[in-house]
Amino acid sequence: MTDLTLLETGPSELSIPLKIAVEGCCHGSLDNIYNSLEKACESRGWEVAKLDFLIICGDFQAIRNERDLNCISVPWRYRTLGDFYRYYSGERQAPVLTLVIGGNHEASNYLSELYYGGWLAPNIYYLGAVNVLRYGPFRIAGLSGIFKGTDYCKPHHERLPYDRNEIRSIYHVRECDISKLLQVRFPVDIGISHDWPRRVEWFGDYKRLFADRPTFFESAKIDNLGSAPAEQVMNHLRPKYWFSGHMHIKYSAVVEHKDNTVEDSFKALAISDELRAQLPGSMFGAAFRKKKSAPKTSPPDITNIVTHFLALDKPGPDREFLELLEVNSSLKAGDTSTNTYMQKTPEGKFTLHYDEEWLSIIRSSGDILAAGDTSLDIALGKSDVPPPNAALQSLRWIQTNITAKGLLKIPENFEKHAPIYDPNDKANANEQPCEFPNSQTGEFCKMLQIRNQFSVDEDVTEIDNDIVFE
Ligand SMILES: [Zn+2]
Repeated sequence: MTDLTLLETGPSELSIPLKIAVEGCCHGSLDNIYNSLEKACESRGWEVAKLDFLIICGDFQAIRNERDLNCISVPWRYRTLGDFYRYYSGERQAPVLTLVIGGNHEASNYLSELYYGGWLAPNIYYLGAVNVLRYGPFRIAGLSGIFKGTDYCKPHHERLPYDRNEIRSIYHVRECDISKLLQVRFPVDIGISHDWPRRVEWFGDYKRLFADRPTFFESAKIDNLGSAPAEQVMNHLRPKYWFSGHMHIKYSAVVEHKDNTVEDSFKALAISDELRAQLPGSMFGAAFRKKKSAPKTSPPDITNIVTHFLALDKPGPDREFLELLEVNSSLKAGDTSTNTYMQKTPEGKFTLHYDEEWLSIIRSSGDILAAGDTSLDIALGKSDVPPPNAALQSLRWIQTNITAKGLLKIPENFEKHAPIYDPNDKANANEQPCEFPNSQTGEFCKMLQIRNQFSVDEDVTEIDNDIVFE
């Protein structure tokens, strides 16, 4: 992927390079991934310990014990405990900061405990349903799950025990989450989704892809190969890099965004008339914009116009599932806006931080404790995007109550709530666990003073007296 390393920076810009690794689907094979990472680093003259982070693009399968295994939607022959439980119990340690999104084969009960993101195990951070995080000056956006139109506008209604519909619908992307990403107004460096952004295949060597995988062409022909919301988010955020898994094949593409609108750059591609004739006319109309409230133009501060897309396979012999990359973030000389995020560890690495703009979006979209009962509808996805002044008020609140108090650094507050795997404790195939309200979600909601809708037991009336209300 030489095209990913040759990024130009102007004379007034400061280039900050990172060494990262990206992996496609995980499917419970963490040991294989970390072993392969070791070898890949060795052959490139890198050290795993010096990598900034590893990204895993979903189907992670954070299965802590046998009961978690009953919350995963997977064909019987693929049902296996995998390696994660050893990282959860503390028997093994992730050798590098590992950033994870969810896919469509997950221990969905565990992931939903961490709806806003959190540590699945020490050094393994799940981004939650959607997120924008900071690693030094880098902004990383992720969306978990896959797109299915029939569930898109539903709230997150699934609770344990899941019935046979809920065990699948729980990982479907929701509009109430995507609408938060569409409120982001400042540049993002890296985007991650499990299924590919829709139409991204057309920006790479699609002839070879379709020759290799004819079924992909059947889907692409009806404009249904990837995720329409991921496409919308990619076109809105225009990050320099976008990584995906799901299709179990390595594929790269370069998306050139057109002008200053989210008009689909697909229309500008040189696709033969013969091929065009096989595609639906709607592909040459307006871009996917289901909600009237969705932004029609990219925010003025987002000026990047090229997204390098890379999809990778799942682990296995002769599969291309891992890639080492050098990525750059460029800061304008004299820009102090990222100073809060620049603190380093004694080893000289940046650390994970919450993002100020993102927290303000969560708070303005969410269930603020002081705002009355109607805000619950917003948090559960029944309502609309909040008015613009709510975002500004919310940003001020975050700056006063979070940034100024030094709370942006993500705490290392992993705790085990569910039991670790015990080979003597056999669960039968229908036995699902109880809910384990996660203390990380509790602490996050308390910090933002939003209602913790994922914990029925939490005392939501507790308000920190140090918090300043405006
Ligand atoms: Zn997969």
